[in-house]
Amino acid sequence: MHTAYPPAWAQINLKNLDYNFRAVKRLVGDKVKVLVPVKSDAYGHGILPVSKRLEALGADYLGVARIDEGIALREAGIAIPILILNTVLENELEPVLDYGLTQTLCTRGLAKRLNRQARKRNLTASCHIKVDTGMSRIGVRYEDAYSFIKELFKLSNLKIEGVFTHFPCADNNPRFTLRQIKLFNALTQRLGEEGMRIPICHASNSIGVINYPESHFNMVRPGLMVYGLYPKEGLSLRLKPLLSLKARISFLKTVSKGSGIGYGHTYIARKEMKIATLPVGYGDGYPRSLSNKAYCLIAGRPARITGRICMDQMMVDVTKIGRVKIGQAAVLVGKQAGEMLSAEYLARLAGTIPYEITCSLGSRVKRIYIT
Ligand SMILES: *Cc1c(COP(=O)(O)O)cnc(C)c1O
Repeated sequence: MHTAYPPAWAQINLKNLDYNFRAVKRLVGDKVKVLVPVKSDAYGHGILPVSKRLEALGADYLGVARIDEGIALREAGIAIPILILNTVLENELEPVLDYGLTQTLCTRGLAKRLNRQARKRNLTASCHIKVDTGMSRIGVRYEDAYSFIKELFKLSNLKIEGVFTHFPCADNNPRFTLRQIKLFNALTQRLGEEGMRIPICHASNSIGVINYPESHFNMVRPGLMVYGLYPKEGLSLRLKPLLSLKARISFLKTVSKGSGIGYGHTYIARKEMKIATLPVGYGDGYPRSLSNKAYCLIAGRPARITGRICMDQMMVDVTKIGRVKIGQAAVLVGKQAGEMLSAEYLARLAGTIPYEITCSLGSRVKRIYIT
């Protein structure tokens, strides 16, 4: 493959990662640690380059969803703490110890098993306890949390380094979110009073970091905003997106009035049109639901997608764009000549969230890093 000249590529600007990370630091202050989730290939941006940059920037923790992600980070030489944000099955615990990962615990069974395995190897296993204050995903039930944690303190080969919870509705339900914060506060306070000091308490995702300063505790877990994307519309905070998605025009043609374009002929030319083909499609993670809806930028001007997006290609209307050539770059996400096409906009149009737009980018979309 001619990787030096990819037909479609994602440009990832790591300078913008610096900018957004510093924006988080400014918001939360010096005393609050920052864990950055790098799960799902760093939201599609590339787990290794992003994690290395975050380590250099002074991130306190990285967050992953799977043990394999943690192993990949350790094998690449990442030395800072890595929290596995999800629970795992009992037979997955060995690499947690092998690679010095920090495990989320929310069941007695897993806690005891980790403690036993650590004792056998003469190790202490770091863990964070997940408390469910209203997400109903993983986590020990709030009502059971105190006695659960008390039991875990008796397991001498566990180091309980953190306790955390998660917000399901911080973008749209302040009443519920504030109640979660209150419950979590009450728990950590009670633990402290009973001599069970847990060094790190954390709750905030991006929207929590931005809208709920009372949820910062002493660590925050912003993902989306560190990638320069907004968890909600209308926020005044300035962030810089890392990702641009680009492709080079592979073919140009004139179609006559009445021609159907693409599978199913969902678009019929109402007049003679100039159509460009781009070598990018849903096989690259560009949502097929954007067929006949979204546009890209060519020469800084909007070129609407005509017909259905194919697996590897799509057709766009360049009738009104003056000089268009084969090989010319089209921007599907990002800036061109002062025009901006955001992942948030595409997400809205596709009926999804910006997270899904970036996470879906396929592995054949070459990532090119600006460092
Ligand atoms: C992914 C994740 C986050 C980050 O959420 P954003 O909305 O991207 O900021 C925070 N906490 C947990 C537990 C997560 O899994």
